[in-house]
Amino acid sequence: MKKNRVAIVGAGLVGSLWAVYMAKRGYDVKVFDRRPDIRKLKIVQGKSINLALSDRGWRGLEGAGIADAIRKVALPMHGRMMHAVDGKLTFQPYGKEGQAIYSVSRGLLNQTLMQCAAEHDNVHFAFQHRCKDVNLESNTVSFYDEVNQCDVSEQFDQVFGTDGAFSAVRSRLTRLDRYDYSQSYLDHGYKELEIAANADGTHQLDVNCLHIWPRGEFMMIALPNIDGSFTCTLFIPFEGEYSLANLKTPEAVRSFFEKHFSDAVPMMPELVEDYFANPDASLVMTKCYPWHYSNKVCLMGDAAHAIVPFYGQGMNAGFEDCTYLNQLLDEHHDNFDLVFPEYTRLRKPAGDAILELALGNYIEMRDKTGDHDFLLQKKIEARFSAKYPQKWASLYEQVSFSHTPYHDALRNGKRQQKIMDQVMDDPNIESKWDSDEIEQKMLSLL
Ligand SMILES: Cc1cc2nc3c(=O)[nH]c(=O)nc-3n(C[C@H](O)[C@H](O)[C@H](O)COP(=O)(O)OP(=O)(O)OC[C@H]3O[C@@H](n4cnc5c(N)ncnc54)[C@H](O)[C@@H]3O)c2cc1C
Repeated sequence: MKKNRVAIVGAGLVGSLWAVYMAKRGYDVKVFDRRPDIRKLKIVQGKSINLALSDRGWRGLEGAGIADAIRKVALPMHGRMMHAVDGKLTFQPYGKEGQAIYSVSRGLLNQTLMQCAAEHDNVHFAFQHRCKDVNLESNTVSFYDEVNQCDVSEQFDQVFGTDGAFSAVRSRLTRLDRYDYSQSYLDHGYKELEIAANADGTHQLDVNCLHIWPRGEFMMIALPNIDGSFTCTLFIPFEGEYSLANLKTPEAVRSFFEKHFSDAVPMMPELVEDYFANPDASLVMTKCYPWHYSNKVCLMGDAAHAIVPFYGQGMNAGFEDCTYLNQLLDEHHDNFDLVFPEYTRLRKPAGDAILELALGNYIEMRDKTGDHDFLLQKKIEARFSAKYPQKWASLYEQVSFSHTPYHDALRNGKRQQKIMDQVMDDPNIESKWDSDEIEQKMLSLL
């Protein structure tokens, strides 16, 4: 039987992975992107921005049979390493022994995914094609072809919008009657910086950690690259005392970093150059509903759910969209009348929940990871969870090391926090945090 012709608009991380899934299902797939073919760019290993890949993302890659290729270039991070203002280091494991999230280069990951898709005869790419609109009657997608400088259009049976946070495909759906859509920006922005490698190519900081400099209203994080460097991101308000607006001269930047990140500065020889070469970047969040139109159009990845990056889950959630949609195609024998509404029903609550979780984690990372009580609470939870793994998995574990739907993880996490608030209320908790009494109290509260 001849399979449908499908368009995937956006050859980013999610679109390229989805192309592999659809190719394997036997569809005739055409993938469009407004960018030139990034496989032709030489991505210096590790120099590009990196992302944290966790279990949901790995499952998405495994389902398409391409996890092994990515594993070779992924660096495990077993926990957070907190850097206090005085340089004191505190390590906090993310989960149990052996559990880790993985630092991967966005550029290499995208190239690898595109290459895997291109190896299928039934996948074709069209680059420098910027989607302008979708005619929902005929399912015809119109593009501006930047090479030939003209408008072109093509008709498809299904159109998958994987064109990111500012999706043109979604933009067409927002013009439908009773279509829900909202967009907002965080008051905080970010700046990419770099910690250099040692002269011999080794890392200057512990390579198997995600490093955090929590400073209350702002923070810096660093993820390792395979060339020995770390990509750092400073998250900071746009306006106010400590803000991007107040860091406009080399002197201001240098003195700000020396005051707040003094242990990192000697490892950042290009700090001032990097600071002014890289843009002040903003963080957008979007919500929309439904994620499909009829049996024709479906949104995936950031096009459906653009979130802030503080749980390291945006891409992971997008890869999980691929897992779910593929399973639904199996269950419903590729009947899009059934698959698309079911996909929206299952995934929309997950998208909303991971946005809430990510916003909450920003406060946790920048404010609480340096806090004594917070670290004590994490120790109590870790001890209890090691003894009763069936009864207690931390929220972080549920999000990063399980496939529990995000909305269930959010609900469980809120319940656990109520218990921990009662446990931490004990005035003598410091001296008896690892006692039978506390353990029994937690069991009874559960
Ligand atoms: C600072 C930062 C750190 C992050 N860290 C993490 C992390 O650690 N872990 C994690 O899981 N996630 C992280 N994320 C989120 C992650 O980057 C996104 O969730 C992920 O890139 C979404 O993939 P996507 O394919 O949906 O969209 P994108 O990666 O944005 O790809 C969209 C593609 O569509 C193309 N496109 C756009 N418009 C058009 C158009 N009109 N026509 C044709 N093509 C078009 C673009 O060129 C692009 O190739 C982070 C995000 C930020 C900003």
